[in-house]
Amino acid sequence: EFAEVSIKDIDQVAKSSFPLCMRHLFEKLREDHHLKHGGRMQLGLFLKGVGLKLDDALAFWKAEFSQKVGAERFDKEYAYSIRHNYGREGKRTDYTPYSCQKIISSTPGVGDHHGCPYRHFSEENLKAALSKMGVNSGALENVMDKVRNRHYQLACTLTFESIHGSSNDAGINHPNQYFSDSHEIFK
Ligand code: SF4
Repeated sequence: EFAEVSIKDIDQVAKSSFPLCMRHLFEKLREDHHLKHGGRMQLGLFLKGVGLKLDDALAFWKAEFSQKVGAERFDKEYAYSIRHNYGREGKRTDYTPYSCQKIISSTPGVGDHHGCPYRHFSEENLKAALSKMGVNSGALENVMDKVRNRHYQLACTLTFESIHGSSNDAGINHPNQYFSDSHEIFK
């Protein structure tokens, strides 16, 4: 188990320890001050798994969404589903973060930013994103090779190994596992 992540550390932590699927959502949220439903679910539940407390989650989403839709509309239309994710509304189910398998098999539409970049990005966009993440050109070719063979989680594992300079023998099968393995190395 790792310590809670607070809002003030979140940009730093996103850069160092989020897998590409979550970095992409995080960056899009910061850029557009908005995410569609699929993205809010995928990132929101991941952040919950990372240890972001409900009050911090509400403040985090509100800070972005209120720039786009206003604070009042955020409170009316979006706060409920965040509390819902934390089991504070409706059936009070404590929803769990999505696994890689679930994310890889999702079908993002136009304007959606959820999904697995190894599966859902164009080759060109994926290469650019990986370079930006710090994957060197040698490793990049190996990652793209896995992608072409549809081994998306292996591609993500190779990315992890390249960025962290250490092996990940278990392989990546959950974004929150990627995060906690990374956090172990950087703590
Ligand atoms: Fe995210 Fe899993 Fe895809 Fe990696 S393999 S980008 S952790 S969904």
